[in-house]
Amino acid sequence: MKKDVRKYGISNKRGRQQTSLDPFMPQEGLKEPSLCMTCKTVYQHKHWTLDPEAYRKLKTDPKANWINCPACQKIAAGYPEGIVTLSGSYLWEHEEEIQRILKNEEHKALAKNPFERVIRSLRDNDKLVIETTEKKLAEHLGRVLHKSHQGILNISWSGDPDICRVNWERML
Ligand SMILES: [Zn+2]
Repeated sequence: MKKDVRKYGISNKRGRQQTSLDPFMPQEGLKEPSLCMTCKTVYQHKHWTLDPEAYRKLKTDPKANWINCPACQKIAAGYPEGIVTLSGSYLWEHEEEIQRILKNEEHKALAKNPFERVIRSLRDNDKLVIETTEKKLAEHLGRVLHKSHQGILNISWSGDPDICRVNWERML
């Protein structure tokens, strides 16, 4: 199979490792336990988890520090770090299956990292645009789609802070 993956931009390596520069990520000193009042993510033992059981136990803890987690802040601010644009007639002919793949990958990513989320997915004329909180998730969605349905994939990193733009197109 011919791989058609092109990369543009000079900052792709830096962009991938930039999570520590995330403007929404507290750099230090976040109280423990901290609980996100929006998505119920828990910060404990220097670790973020989306664990309903941990949340249930901690929510009545008088020491619980109530916050809006970095991912929820990003979503509220409309601040996507990844933008995936899908296009081509093939997309709409296979929309249901493609949406299923995207949902599945979204859930898998969330289970691994509570901050990797799809902010929104919307149709823009003949394109489907998916915004993600993390660059890595945008890249991942593009690669999974390219692997399972071929087409043409372009991934670029640009801007400051970096945004990962993923374009996937398949006509037939
Ligand atoms: Zn949250």
